[in-house]
Amino acid sequence: MCSHIHDPHILCPQCDLLVEIPAIAIGQKAKCPRCHTTLTSRWKDPRRRPISFAISALFMLLLSNLFPFVNMKVAGLGSEVTLIQIPQLLVSENYTSMASLFMIVVQLLPAICMLSIIVLYMNTRLSAHWKVSIARMLFRLKAWCMVEIFLAGVLVSFVKLMAYGDVGIGTSFIPYVLFCLLQLRAFQCTDRYGLWQQVGPAPRLAQPLRIGESGLSQGLRSCHCCMAILPVNQSECSRCETKGYARRKNSLQWTMALLVTSILLYIPANLLPIMITQALGTKITSTIMAGVVLLWSDGSYPVAMVIFIASIMVPTLKMLAIGWLCWDANSDKQIDRERLHVIYEMVEFVGRWSMIDVFVIAVLSALVRMGKLMSIYPDIGVLLFAGVVILTMLAAATFDPRLIWDRAGVQSLKVQQDGGK
Ligand SMILES: [Zn+2]
Ligand SMILES: [Zn+2]
Repeated sequence: MCSHIHDPHILCPQCDLLVEIPAIAIGQKAKCPRCHTTLTSRWKDPRRRPISFAISALFMLLLSNLFPFVNMKVAGLGSEVTLIQIPQLLVSENYTSMASLFMIVVQLLPAICMLSIIVLYMNTRLSAHWKVSIARMLFRLKAWCMVEIFLAGVLVSFVKLMAYGDVGIGTSFIPYVLFCLLQLRAFQCTDRYGLWQQVGPAPRLAQPLRIGESGLSQGLRSCHCCMAILPVNQSECSRCETKGYARRKNSLQWTMALLVTSILLYIPANLLPIMITQALGTKITSTIMAGVVLLWSDGSYPVAMVIFIASIMVPTLKMLAIGWLCWDANSDKQIDRERLHVIYEMVEFVGRWSMIDVFVIAVLSALVRMGKLMSIYPDIGVLLFAGVVILTMLAAATFDPRLIWDRAGVQSLKVQQDGGK
């Protein structure tokens, strides 16, 4: 048995199949044989690697707050902003909610997550209670770190501004790019299963386990926080104290409620202006679609496509996909579960990228402040749009993917091993 695993059983968090993890070599990961979700991976230096990535990431984040981030020159007038000035300028425009969102998902949450990784792996003499709380927080906040999306937003704003003047990167830009890469690596090396094993041993089970069958069919459930296997009737996990049920309670009702709200917000988010451009006395308001059309007519076809896909296609498809998943989980028809599962995974992965247009406007309105010559301000539509993205992310998070698999027959399946990083 491989050394990092004390208890080799996992209930797949996505499809509820009980699998036995075989001995896996360094650099390999074990995947669920039914839905192909990665269950656990084994890294060389399982402690040192995440710690060193997280420490370097925090150092880079500090550097990127010290110097100017991006600059712009129009007709001899220059403007320069640091990373921290972007939310400050938004606050001065009475967009405090947007400024806080920006600070939280681009700096605060990633920094908290990096600190948590360091503390958890350092093996400090922390009480078990603290370790559990920190690990719980880490896995909850992880999905809301949007550093790479913000960087993509900065690049898009560069393309938008190139038509008006010279844009350039400041000293802080490279450290921030490095911060982005390092925090992604730190998350990648943090194996949820392995980390919880370190925090505390999984609770012992009295009953024999039937490998290759669903947890529900043998009266077991997986703790959605620490992956421990628990009896269905035990509502609180004995390792991480998270409350849970065999299937998320009222999962479909919550998902549908969030979905309907996001559709209602999506209509005004597309009709109302997201941005105001003031140039030489004229005031132009633009909606999401108008921004895409403008980029297209300027000849920036790839960027126009990126914004169109991220802001219009993805949210629409995402709403349709979530609606379809809910409708299907209610029906008795035989369907292609693998394909439905792929749709679910795509919805989970792609959803956050819709935030890109919100970041573009944050950067534009902070950087383009040259008085009468040219100034850009955010408008109400961008807040509504950020709301839509957050609501659809919550809708996808409340959907219980195990509902897709509950009516599937279970064949005997072997765990797949996958090489590579
Ligand atoms: Zn699975
Ligand atoms: Zn737990």
